[in-house]
Amino acid sequence: MAPETPGRETQETLSNLLREDRRFEPPADLAAAANVTAEAYEEAAQDRLAFWERAAERLTWEQRWETALDWKPPFAKWFVDGKLNVAYNCVDRHVEAGHGDKVAYFWEGEPGDSRTITYADLQKEVSKAANALTELGVGKGDRVAIYMPMIPELPVSLLACARIGAIHSVVFGGFSATALKSRIDDADAKLVITADGGFRRGAPSALKPTVDEAVADCPSIEHVLVVRRTGQEVAQTDKDVWWHDIVERQSAEHTPVAHDAEDPLFILYTSGTTGKPKGILHTTGGYLTQSAWTHHAVFDLKPESDIYWCTADIGWVTGHSYIVYGPLANGATSVIYEGTPDTPHRGRFWEIIQKYRVTILYTAPTAIRTFMKWGDDIPAKFDMSSLRVLGSVGEPINPEAYVWYREHIGGDRTPVVDTWWQTETGAIMISPLPGVTAAKPGAAMKPLPGIVADVVDDQAQSVPNGGGGFLVVREPWPSMLRTIWGDDQRYIDTYWSRFEGFYFPGDGAKKDEDGDLWLLGRVDDVMLVSGHNISTTEVESALVSHPKVAEAAVVGATDPVTTQAIVSFVILRGAAEEGEDIAKELRDHVSKTLGPIAKPRQILIVPELPKTRSGKIMRRLLRDVAENRSIGDVTTLADSSVMKLISEKLPSAASED
Ligand code: ATP
Ligand code: MG
Repeated sequence: MAPETPGRETQETLSNLLREDRRFEPPADLAAAANVTAEAYEEAAQDRLAFWERAAERLTWEQRWETALDWKPPFAKWFVDGKLNVAYNCVDRHVEAGHGDKVAYFWEGEPGDSRTITYADLQKEVSKAANALTELGVGKGDRVAIYMPMIPELPVSLLACARIGAIHSVVFGGFSATALKSRIDDADAKLVITADGGFRRGAPSALKPTVDEAVADCPSIEHVLVVRRTGQEVAQTDKDVWWHDIVERQSAEHTPVAHDAEDPLFILYTSGTTGKPKGILHTTGGYLTQSAWTHHAVFDLKPESDIYWCTADIGWVTGHSYIVYGPLANGATSVIYEGTPDTPHRGRFWEIIQKYRVTILYTAPTAIRTFMKWGDDIPAKFDMSSLRVLGSVGEPINPEAYVWYREHIGGDRTPVVDTWWQTETGAIMISPLPGVTAAKPGAAMKPLPGIVADVVDDQAQSVPNGGGGFLVVREPWPSMLRTIWGDDQRYIDTYWSRFEGFYFPGDGAKKDEDGDLWLLGRVDDVMLVSGHNISTTEVESALVSHPKVAEAAVVGATDPVTTQAIVSFVILRGAAEEGEDIAKELRDHVSKTLGPIAKPRQILIVPELPKTRSGKIMRRLLRDVAENRSIGDVTTLADSSVMKLISEKLPSAASED
């Protein structure tokens, strides 16, 4: 509890309203054979740096580091003076160990074409691509922008850059020419790798025209390397080089040279939920150590037997760490899927799981809520008995969505790991361990071994169990961002200025009565209602727990009486009717679940919610609607027509009391 201020109502930093009594114990067989056991927490607590050094030893280093950590807050160097090659660790060493025939990727194109790529194939492809990059004049430290569909040449491009020490900057293939141009300019990239297009929703979707438009005005770009995927007509410019012309004729031999542990590996712009994206810089040794170790620990990955599928796009950090670097460093077999979950039908994901006998699935709450909306009967038609671990990332997962995921996808058998992390953290930070944790639906539970996170009040004091506040990380971690590209001051101001000596991710959280952690959304979204700080997440979860609700977003709008009042935007489930009484019914339901303080002032039934291209709800735009302002920056919004649909709903929803 925050210290009492005379004359003011006592107030928690962030209210804890939601109670959850369901628990899911780890399955006995999984626990008995788990990669990581409860002892890891003790080992890491005894000597955190020695713990991370053991994790680093899972990689192959050409030269061992001298010092685990050099920490001059807020600038960290991990595994100082160590040298390694990331592509060698992800590819060549598995071939050398006799696993050349093992499948690295089962790739599934949206139209139903597929490719199987072994580690030996990957070694050849990456070597050829590395040789081609060299021929195009790309060298160590140069920046390469990558704007591609989800085809095998995408991970090959990342690995080719890593191999020669070029710094990749992947820009999600759904972004506009303006967004691509600003990211190329910010990183001063020399080369763009792209494709004619990719398949989306049953049709070829062009990428090259967007690149042409962006590059027309980017003097730093010397060449555009183009993969032919869809075969659609492509306008040629004098910078263009076809992948099949230059890469195919290269030698399949390439000797990787070791890079310094602190050499940059990539820049990645955040997904832009809150505002202008930041160019997050990650380096080599610490990043690979933590992405590989967490993939091994959190998913209990067994390279001999698991078929692992992360449904994210490689354009986001989840795809970097958990489609490319973590899984490949661990020698995993993964599935990559090019398209959307509803093409050609709404069971496509489940069909892929059935086809490849997927054992581990990692996806996002936004997808899970969409599947809930589509109906339980769709996954029920497929055999998903191969699944043994499920993961979630990207937003807080509502308890109801968690339980649905476990039951309808996991056959009420698989643990669900809710993994909290960000572009900035590089790898998973807070998560259950599937063979250790008795998980609670909706909770990220505990910082992983080696991670020191806490929840503090506005005076930086740790909150007691039962309290809520600001999530912080108290100690540096190997895969932490090193800075914002070209802007150390913004790095300091954004992450290290709110609380002296602590990293502040911008998210709110609470500790329940057992001390387990629950993420409560972005602190910028917290609502101040009659002296109580109420999180968006808890009210949204209460709404989603009503059987007629598929998805909900809430915001605080200025209110003359209560400072802010809760305005809710709700998508109903397929079968539910938008009747007269639904608003009252939902308001009463929230009041009963969380208490009268959390009762929304308004409920608006809407057809869609504004989301980023990575599927996260953009509450700041809803706040603009609720407060009748003109709508702010929408450049990272996936579908701009959504805001019009929502604004039209507003007048009918005035006051319901
Ligand atoms: P920007 O920083 O530009 O606004 P962004 O924060 O959406 O973009 P990401 O780095 O992709 O970009 O998202 C990280 C954020 O996603 C976290 O800070 C958190 O708010 C949310 N998040 C991710 N995983 C979880 C999770 N398991 N539970 C709760 N929130 C999560
Ligand atoms: Mg962020």
